[in-house]
Amino acid sequence: METHARVVVIGGGVVGCSILYHLAKLSWSDVVLLERSELTSGSSWHAAGVIHTINSDPNIARMQGYTINLYKELEDLTGQSCGIHRPGGLYLASTPERLDYLRQERAKARYMGLDTDFISLEHARDLNPLIEPSKYLGALFEPVDGHVDPSGVTHAYAKGARHYGAKVIRECPVIETNPREDGGWDVVTPQGTIHAEILVNAAGLWAREVGRLAGIDLPIQPMEHHYLITEAIPEIEAHGREIAVTVDYEGNAYTRQEHKGLLLGTYETNCVPWAVDGTPLDFGHELLQDDLSRVSERLETAFERMPAIGRAGIKKVVNGPFTFGPDGNPLIGPVPGLKNYWTAVGVMAGFCQGGGVGLCMAEWMIYGEPHIDVWGMDIARFGEFATRDWGRVKSAENYSRRFILTYPNETLPAGRRQKTTALYDRLAAKGAVMGVSHGLEHALWFAPTPQEAQETPTFRRSNAFRYVADEVRAAREGVGMIEIANYAKHEVKGPGAEAFLDRLLANRLPKVGRLALTPMLTPKGKLYGDLTVARLDSETFYLFGSGAAQNMHRRWFEGHMPKTGVSYYNRSDALHGLAISGPRSRELLQRVTREDVTSSGLRFRDVRRMTVAGVPAMVARVSFSGELGYELYVAPHYQVALYEALSEAGADLGLRIYGSRALMSMRLEKNWGVWTLDFRPDFTAGESGLDTFVAFDKAAEFIGRDAAIAEREHGLEKRLVTMVVDTLDVDCVADEPIFHDGACVGYVTSGGYGHTVQKSLAMGYVPSALAQDGARFRIELLGEFYEATVTTQPLYDPDGGRMRN
Ligand SMILES: Cc1cc2nc3c(=O)[nH]c(=O)nc-3n(C[C@H](O)[C@H](O)[C@H](O)COP(=O)(O)OP(=O)(O)OC[C@H]3O[C@@H](n4cnc5c(N)ncnc54)[C@H](O)[C@@H]3O)c2cc1C
Repeated sequence: METHARVVVIGGGVVGCSILYHLAKLSWSDVVLLERSELTSGSSWHAAGVIHTINSDPNIARMQGYTINLYKELEDLTGQSCGIHRPGGLYLASTPERLDYLRQERAKARYMGLDTDFISLEHARDLNPLIEPSKYLGALFEPVDGHVDPSGVTHAYAKGARHYGAKVIRECPVIETNPREDGGWDVVTPQGTIHAEILVNAAGLWAREVGRLAGIDLPIQPMEHHYLITEAIPEIEAHGREIAVTVDYEGNAYTRQEHKGLLLGTYETNCVPWAVDGTPLDFGHELLQDDLSRVSERLETAFERMPAIGRAGIKKVVNGPFTFGPDGNPLIGPVPGLKNYWTAVGVMAGFCQGGGVGLCMAEWMIYGEPHIDVWGMDIARFGEFATRDWGRVKSAENYSRRFILTYPNETLPAGRRQKTTALYDRLAAKGAVMGVSHGLEHALWFAPTPQEAQETPTFRRSNAFRYVADEVRAAREGVGMIEIANYAKHEVKGPGAEAFLDRLLANRLPKVGRLALTPMLTPKGKLYGDLTVARLDSETFYLFGSGAAQNMHRRWFEGHMPKTGVSYYNRSDALHGLAISGPRSRELLQRVTREDVTSSGLRFRDVRRMTVAGVPAMVARVSFSGELGYELYVAPHYQVALYEALSEAGADLGLRIYGSRALMSMRLEKNWGVWTLDFRPDFTAGESGLDTFVAFDKAAEFIGRDAAIAEREHGLEKRLVTMVVDTLDVDCVADEPIFHDGACVGYVTSGGYGHTVQKSLAMGYVPSALAQDGARFRIELLGEFYEATVTTQPLYDPDGGRMRN
């Protein structure tokens, strides 16, 4: 057996084999896959093999499209049949809300270049004669959908990988993974030990056990899943061609043709997590005891909607386990906090997603970054809070909601209050409706009473609308206060900190006591962060950024740190705090500090440690609201003291607590983008407009400089713009297509209502030639088209006088 490999992949299911194939295909042939038994010995062998492109995350949908189109290429390369069937897929809606959902999916498909479209219910019955059209309101058709042979696909990847020089070693269980001094891993098996420069955990059903070998707990959970196969159905026999793969959301069932019968699977709400304490090491090519009573209610609904199934005999029932992640998407990439340890786990739809996962993993390893933003799959979107127990609860919730609609304004109930701040109960008593980011609860908006603290899930404006409007008004006209515990705070210290950050950040570093805004770029010039950097003394810096992305940024900082001279800490949970904003915020701050906070005593973009409300604080004079404002960071144990002192001192100033919805409304009115939506690795500094904060001429050779300069010289293909959208009762959220002259030219990255300017606003990327003030577009929103007009200047306080004041 090999004693050294550039990459060792653990697990010969569809995911591991795809990673191996893509690594070898993209030029790394010194790669080895270790499989404890035969290939496909986990979930892969008993999958239903259904393939489809629909996913709420457009980049994952793109990767699903890539996966589906890869199968033919794999067959041609290897001669191994993948058992490809492509009769197309039907998505059926039987409620108006589901129809809205399908309209959104169709809209996304337009800018992804897919041919997904609505067809009549009669046409739908022509594609699947089993459905009863009167039960449905609409049908979306996706021509590329179908199904494949799971075992054939897995073997084709393995064969393709071997073709490009990779090695597959079967009957070789990994029993230890030990980190080495040189940053690699000793991968121990009964057949010997391999020194891996990079280790990939793709152990599917056993990913948790393999993770434990390296000391990590993965928040994923295998779930039992039933499907059944019927005897021949006369309507199928008579149809003459293969019937379309069909998803009936409200019927909670997916179906595809199996010989002359039907395969029907369902996701029961009273779902059963499997092997909670660990997957047995001797589990392999066996199935679980089926229990049709668990799915009988679902089956009755399916029989009503497709009566022919009820008349057919059941030939076979399959109950097999497969692994889910907390939000249903895979967890891939380098694990923050570990060197050269990667995962590709929790891939619950390996036959839809395996190709894309393999491609992104291989690109990321070989080129340092995948070609698209993989945030929706990045393991770094979870952190320490995502324990195995939390993962079990969330993964089960996700499984049971697989065909249940989740609205854009909806926050899901399982695994909540995993992380709370000291103010949680106080804010709840004030009527806070809570959201969650990176495990931490934060207020979205405030209802007048705790009893009214509920938001109707909807695609349209919700009952929160008027309360958010009040919160915005209070912050714009007087003074508002928002908890900012959920911002990320990264501390970088030491004699080498300045040089380190000068290389990582594209802007010039601020002087001591000052703040600077800066993008962080990848070598290809893509955005990897949008941060505010504060310099407290010559060797101490704080970086404030997206709370959701804190682990991704931690990984980036640690991955680029020199061996000596710099220390890095993620202080996000060690610094909570409150931001106050509005024309009367200075008056409020002055009431709770002895320091001079006049406009000359604490200038715009000053940062200083000082005593506020009798507790030690770090005060930064910035505000994401666009108003005069201050961010007051304190240790969590001072949070209550700070809150109470501000509340008391601000009472006669009309101080009002507000939530993140109001903040999002205010930032839109300022044309400011946010991380994970408008700013992310799909875009560059120039495209996003963040090049304003790039110091092209600074002495330090910052990461991404050459790419940023090249972009500046060659011009931009697209640009981020803010648009006023002529709607009456609905606002963009994200991913709505933007049309110009009848062609889809871009898509919305975020949207909402500007409560001060009283207009519906959206941000999105459009071709730069069209990114002119007053340029007119049409945006498709829930099936309707709305006029949208670019406004290059913010509608609110365009010269920024209010925040600089
Ligand atoms: C009933 C059912 C229906 C499904 N239907 C579909 C569908 O229609 N479409 C779809 O896309 N997906 C479907 N799936 C899901 C799909 O099967 C999985 O997404 C996919 O198989 C996951 O592949 P994997 O490679 O991650 O994991 P696995 O298939 O579990 O593979 C992991 C491999 O790692 C090996 N391994 C584990 N530990 C070690 C070790 N220590 N050393 C060496 N090797 C190790 C195992 O032996 C195994 O071969 C279904 C699953 C089930 C159960």
